[in-house]
Amino acid sequence: MAKNVKPILVECPRRLIEGFKREAKRVFPKETYALLIGFDEESPAGRRVSITEIHYPEDAERFCTTQRADWQDAWLVDAAEHAKEAGTELIGDIHSHPWTRAEWEAINGIPGRQMSEEDCDKFKWNRIAGICRVYETRTGKLRASVRFWPPLTPVKMRIT
Ligand SMILES: [Zn+2]
Repeated sequence: MAKNVKPILVECPRRLIEGFKREAKRVFPKETYALLIGFDEESPAGRRVSITEIHYPEDAERFCTTQRADWQDAWLVDAAEHAKEAGTELIGDIHSHPWTRAEWEAINGIPGRQMSEEDCDKFKWNRIAGICRVYETRTGKLRASVRFWPPLTPVKMRIT
C-alpha cells in the first residue's frame, strides 16, 4: 500500500513573490532564474520551508533565453555564501516559464505552472523549486503566477 507523506509547508512573503513576478515580466519573453534563501526545517509536525529572501544572480540575463534558464554553478555558490552571512541557507530555486500569446494558443490553452522534463532531470536535489508562469493575454498584458514544487528524487530506470 502507498505510504502517506506529510505535506511540506512552504511559507513565502507576498512581497517576494510579487518581486519575482515583476522581474519575470520585465525580462519576458526570456526566462529568468533566482535562488531561494531562508530556512528548511524538519520537525515532528513536518517539514517547513520558510523563504526569507530571493537572491538574483547579477548576470542572470546573460544565461537566460526564451527557451531556457541556464543556471550556473557559481550562482549557487554565491547564493549559499550570501545565505550563510545572513544566518540562513540556500533552500531552493525559482525560474520563469514565459509564454507568448502565439505559443500558448498553439497548444490550445493557457499552460500550467509545471516543471518541464528538463527541469526535473537537471535539478535533483533535496530542495524546493518554484515555477513562475508568465503569459501574454489576448490584450497584450502579462499575467504571472508562482507555485512551488517538492524536492526531486532521481529515478533510474531499468527495463527488464
Ligand atoms: Zn523550466
